[in-house]
Amino acid sequence: MGTTNNEESTSQTQKLPPGVVLGPDGKPCKVCTAFRHWKPLKNMTTPKAAATTTTTTTKGPVNSQHTIDPISASLAIASAIPPIIDLPRPDNCPPDVEQLGRATWSFLHTTAAYYPERADPTQARHMYSLLSALPTLYPCSHCASHLGECMKRNPPDVSGRAALSRWLCERHNEVNVRLGKPSFDCNKTDERWKDGPLDGSCD
Ligand SMILES: Cc1cc2nc3c(=O)[nH]c(=O)nc-3n(C[C@H](O)[C@H](O)[C@H](O)COP(=O)(O)OP(=O)(O)OC[C@H]3O[C@@H](n4cnc5c(N)ncnc54)[C@H](O)[C@@H]3O)c2cc1C
Repeated sequence: MGTTNNEESTSQTQKLPPGVVLGPDGKPCKVCTAFRHWKPLKNMTTPKAAATTTTTTTKGPVNSQHTIDPISASLAIASAIPPIIDLPRPDNCPPDVEQLGRATWSFLHTTAAYYPERADPTQARHMYSLLSALPTLYPCSHCASHLGECMKRNPPDVSGRAALSRWLCERHNEVNVRLGKPSFDCNKTDERWKDGPLDGSCD
C-alpha cells in the first residue's frame, strides 16, 4: 500500500496557536479549548507554518512542535498571524472549555448546596455515581483526566451537604490553581451557591 496523505502529513511538524489543546486523538480539541484560542486556529490560512508556540496537551502546557494529521495541518497557523483576542462569541456556539466549565461547576456546587445534611445510602450512592462518572464522560478530555487523578487522591465525600460542598470546592480550587486563578474561600460556598451575599443584593 502507498503512503497516505495522513502518513505524509504526520511527518511534518506543525505549530498551533497558544492555548489550543490537543485531544486524545492528537487533533485540536474544540471543547477542550477556549473560544478566543480556537478562533485564530480556524482563521489560519497557512497549512505549513512552523514556529515555536506554547500548546497545552492532555499532559499540560508544552513548548514544542507537534506532529499533526492533515485536518490539523490544514488548520496550522502562520506565526505572523497574531491571536485574536476577545472575539465576540455568538450565543448559539457549542460550549467551549470555559462555558462548559462554568455550567458544570454551577450544577455541581448548586447540587451540593441542596444535598441533604445527612445523605441516606441511596442518595449517597447516586451522588457518588454522578461524580465518579465525570472522569469518564466529561467532554473536555484533559479536564476529565486531571479530575480523575484528583479523585483518586481525594475520593468524594458524599456523606452530607457540608462535606460534599467542601470536597467540591477543594477540587475546583485545584483547577483554579492549575489555571493560575485565585483559590476560592471554601467557607463561602453556601453564600455563593445557596444563600447569596449578606448584603441582600441577590434577594
Ligand atoms: C471538572 C472540571 C475540570 C476542569 N478542568 C479544566 C482544565 O483542566 N483546564 C481548563 O482550562 N479548564 C478546566 N475547567 C474549566 C474551568 O474550571 C473554568 O470553569 C473555566 O476556566 C471558566 O472559569 P471562570 O473563571 O469563568 O469561573 P469558574 O472556575 O468556572 O467558576 C465559576 C464560579 O464559581 C465560583 N468558584 C470559583 N472557585 C470556586 C470554588 N473552589 N468553590 C466554589 N465556587 C467557586 C466563582 O464564583 C466563579 O465565578 C474544568 C471544569 C470542570 C467542571
